[in-house]
This record gives sequence, structure tokens and C-alpha cells, in this order.
Amino acid sequence: MTSVAQRVYVDGPIHEEALDLLRETTEVVPETFEMGSALPGVHAVLLRTASLDAEAIDRARSLRVIARHGVGVDNVAVEEATRRGIPVLITPQANLRSVAEHVFALALAVSRNLIRADRTVRDGRFASRDRLMGRELFGATLGVIGLGRIGGEVARMGAQGFGMRVLGYDPFLPPGQIRERDAEPAQTLPGLLRACDLVTLHVPLSRQTRGLLGRSELASMRSGSILLQTSRGGVVDEGSLVDALRSGHIAGAGIDVYETEPPPQDHPFFCMEQVVLTPHTAALTAQAMRHMAVDAAQGILDVLGGSDPYDPPDGARWQVFDPGPAAEG
Ligand code: NAD
Repeated sequence: MTSVAQRVYVDGPIHEEALDLLRETTEVVPETFEMGSALPGVHAVLLRTASLDAEAIDRARSLRVIARHGVGVDNVAVEEATRRGIPVLITPQANLRSVAEHVFALALAVSRNLIRADRTVRDGRFASRDRLMGRELFGATLGVIGLGRIGGEVARMGAQGFGMRVLGYDPFLPPGQIRERDAEPAQTLPGLLRACDLVTLHVPLSRQTRGLLGRSELASMRSGSILLQTSRGGVVDEGSLVDALRSGHIAGAGIDVYETEPPPQDHPFFCMEQVVLTPHTAALTAQAMRHMAVDAAQGILDVLGGSDPYDPPDGARWQVFDPGPAAEG
């Protein structure tokens, strides 16, 4: 009897090296094949941005593993997958540096008026440079909300790279672990918000974190502070943020993720010079794209090849998503 090739559905373009790796031993179903119709016959899904809801998982009767190209799992019905014994893999190491560096790209762009400065030169208004007075990051207090992989790296870069004082808020980490990440633990979220010149978010989107920064939290931020949002749209209430920026209470913001992506063309952010916007590109570096694809592909091959997803081989750069205490439930 000939063995049936394992079929892997790949949602969206991924690094060629990962496709080559998968093609060595599996049959890759390309994204041009609509996911809904491909699912019943596939054994693994390598998921970029498409949604894999409970109904889709229900139709995928042969599915043995789902691997996310990245770490966010809000586009996967994890509970349903887990209930059916299908592990959901993430690639936690692939993009943490890219996202952390992007946080500082945004922090510098906002605090040094980089976009306005560029326009000033191009428009021949060099002499009006006095209006572009910036603020240093050195010595400023940075508040990091969520001290996991990315937040931990941001804290370290802030303290060691820029000489910032870093406060960290993460109710799921013991204070000792927050200190290990070069941050002083803040007891409460309002306490952190009141004490910081810049605040950056690094929590997953869950029932508990949706609207984590709403009107009253934004109001408790320091007057003239800067907000950096590279976690997931929905963690910050955008309407309240727009009001806080309009009033000047929050001086500026660097935003990579939105409640709706892409944000509608009439979004108030688009008229705000003090806001720097990027199109969900924090993890979009050549290095991260390659690592995410190869790590996810390797996870799929390991699991299809019989590895215990809960006990990955030594050196594996993938792991089963652990909902932890902050899960959607
Ligand atoms: P992680 O799981 O390592 O860390 C998340 C941390 O948030 C954990 O330490 C957890 O304890 C903490 N947390 C959970 N709920 C909290 C709360 N209510 N208050 C404070 N802390 C809380 O995840 P990570 O790899 O650091 O990624 C963080 C998030 O960044 C991801 O979930 C994803 O949504 C986002 N992300 C965005 C991009 C992008 O392109 N912009 C790329 C990668 C990841």
C-alpha cells in the first residue's frame, strides 16, 4: 500500500526556504486554492492572516497541527483546536527583536517629529526647524505593559540601549522576573500610567485585555506623554485615544495595529501630525519573515513526523501556544 502524502495548506506567501523545507516531505497546497475547500483534505495548516474559526476546524477532519506564522493566535479558535487534540504552534523567537526595534523606531519618530521634519526639508521650509524641537529618550520613564517575550526585550533595550528608567506591569509575572527584564515592577496599571513619559503595550488580545487602555486609563496617563501601540488593535480604545490626542493630554502616539485593519480612510488619526502610523509592519523584517516561516514549517514537520508537540525536540524554535492565565477562556 502506498502511503498518502501529508498535505499542508499554506495561507499567504511565506519565505521560499520554508516552502522548500515543506516540499521535501509533504505536498504543499498553495494559497491560491481557497482555504475553505482545501481544509477537509489537509493534515496541517501554516497560518498567516486568515481566520481559522471553530466551524472551519470542524470541517478539517484530517487536521493534525496548526502552525502560526508568528505568535498572535486571535485568528485561531484555539479552544476548539485543543478540544480536538490539534496543537496550535507559535514561533515565539522569530520576531521579537523586529517588533522591539519597531517600538523604538516609533518612539523616536514621535519624540523627534521625524515625519514632520522630513516633510519640512522636502517642502523647502528648512528655516522653520525651530518648530521641530524634540525630546530625548535618555532619562525618560518608559512604561511597559506585558513583560513577555517582546515586552521583556523592549524593557532591556530601553534600559540598556537608551538609558531610560523602565517600569513594568504584568500581573502574571512575579516581581523578580520583571526585575530580570531590567524593569521596576509597578503594582497597578494606573500607577504605571501616572509615572511614565512613554507607555508601550505588549499584551495579547483577549477578553481581559480588550479595551485595557480605555478613557479612564488614558486620562490617568501623564499629561504630554506618548503612547506606543504594537500589540493588537482592540487593546486600546481608539475613540478614547483620538479624544486624548485631540485634547493634547497625550502628546503623540506611534501606532502599528488598529481596531479595524486597514483603518477606514476617514480615520481621525490620518489628520493628526503628532501620530506616526505604520501598517502592521512591526514584525515585517527580512529576518523575522524568514524565521517565522522556517520555524513554523519545522514545527509542522516535527509534529507530522511524530514529535510530541508538548515536548519539542532540543533546539526547537516553536512551541504549543499556552493560553496561560490571561486566556480568552
Ligand atoms: P507573550 O505571551 O510572550 O507576552 C505577553 C505578556 O502579556 C505575558 O507576560 C502576559 O503575562 C502579559 N499579560 C497578559 N495579560 C496582561 C494584562 N492584562 N496586563 C499586563 N500584562 C498582561 O507575547 P509576546 O510574544 O511578547 O507578544 C505580545 C503581543 O504582541 C502578541 O500577543 C501579539 O498580539 C503582539 N504582536 C504584534 C506584532 C506586530 O506586528 N505588531 C508582532 C508580534 C506580536
